[in-house]
Amino acid sequence: MQILTLTQLRETDERTQRFTPLGLGLDRILDPESAAAYHQESVAESDLATVVARGTHSAFERLREIHAYGVLCYEIYTLVNDHALLVIEQALRDRFIDFHDGSCVFVHAGGREETVQIGEYADVHRAANRFSPKRRYRLRVGQGPATVEFNGMLDGLRSWARAADLLRGQRNRRIEKLLAKLRNSVAHPSSTHLLSPVDCARTLSDLAEFINQLWGVPTPGGRLYPAPAERDVLFIGWNATGRIIIGSADHLTADHMRFDDIEQCAIVRAFLSPGTPLVDRDLHYFDSRYENTRLPAEYLWGPGSPAEAAAWLAATPPVRDFVDLLDQVFAIRHDGDRVYRPMKPGIVALLDPADQAGHWYIVQADVAQDAFAHVQQLLTAAAGCSQHGECPACPVETIDQGTVEKLVERGRLAPTSSMLPPAFHLCDDISPWRLAPVSSNQELGPPGRGYRRRSDGS
Ligand SMILES: [Zn+2]
Repeated sequence: MQILTLTQLRETDERTQRFTPLGLGLDRILDPESAAAYHQESVAESDLATVVARGTHSAFERLREIHAYGVLCYEIYTLVNDHALLVIEQALRDRFIDFHDGSCVFVHAGGREETVQIGEYADVHRAANRFSPKRRYRLRVGQGPATVEFNGMLDGLRSWARAADLLRGQRNRRIEKLLAKLRNSVAHPSSTHLLSPVDCARTLSDLAEFINQLWGVPTPGGRLYPAPAERDVLFIGWNATGRIIIGSADHLTADHMRFDDIEQCAIVRAFLSPGTPLVDRDLHYFDSRYENTRLPAEYLWGPGSPAEAAAWLAATPPVRDFVDLLDQVFAIRHDGDRVYRPMKPGIVALLDPADQAGHWYIVQADVAQDAFAHVQQLLTAAAGCSQHGECPACPVETIDQGTVEKLVERGRLAPTSSMLPPAFHLCDDISPWRLAPVSSNQELGPPGRGYRRRSDGS
């Protein structure tokens, strides 16, 4: 081993200096002071909520502190990144202890219950071995009634956190499994690897989101567990030449004459924040009844002329709202050889009886396209898709299915408004068109392409 002097230990690692706010510097590097500041700032916003357990909090802060020394030793980023994966398990253990507040109950398949006093996680581990799934025990989640198979290990804790509704998001279920796999590869390594400061900062940011979500605090603007996001009131205007314009409804209120080349427009609540992840490029496929957009969009008024829209906005000024971007619920109709695109369940109950015919799936997904793809695969007998509950092949959960009559009885289709939106939607050439369904075996395309145009233009 080569013994370094204190001066040598204090030398900046040039590899770290090459990571700049403008990407990887091939012909220039940051000076040492700037590199130290930049890499600390990259993790400065990943704070934990004050409600997080002290042990988890300390483990996370220690990682952030050590991360700052990556500017002197590039290998630190890999060590911090790998240790962050181990903190996931610590966070789950601490949350388990908080959640169960002193005791937990194991229920035998025969109905017998075993209550175990727990002070620290070692007590839980012993109890999970004693009352294991092999011996036909399940853990009661908090006060119940839900129970979950629980082995006290990382995968058991992950299943428990899902059963306790502490984690959200259908796509996140896969990411959580992947993180557990990565953690296992770190705990039982079979090769070496070297990660960059960018990888490390991303892992710390994801870890902070995961921990905060476990304690019930979603992250504003988060990548994995975002807090409800603010939706704008927008207008979507179009004309027969194919011109489409989307903008803030305020512009229409201020001067609707500016839009005299627009023949028809609609007012919606949707996302259009340029330069952020909350810009919905699929708004060009907006449909008043079907969910064609990537982010949640809501019909408010239209279609009508810009002057009529401005008058409606002045008389009934709509306000912005906040919506959850995860775990949305969609209703998908299968009738004969046709599968229709997802709808909001609240709209289905208002449809004409003829449009309610067929078999409906109530599917929870983060984006409508996931729910639609799942039902299409289900009906084409694609391998791996599940009719009920969490799908092992898709990031969705099938909540219920049946006829409209049965689903209304079970409270799955409660109307959210008293009025059915008039049917209209946009496509490439922007002339109004009426929904025509896609056959169940048609290949999936981008949103909006799953339709056949109809020319009656009603
Ligand atoms: Zn599926």
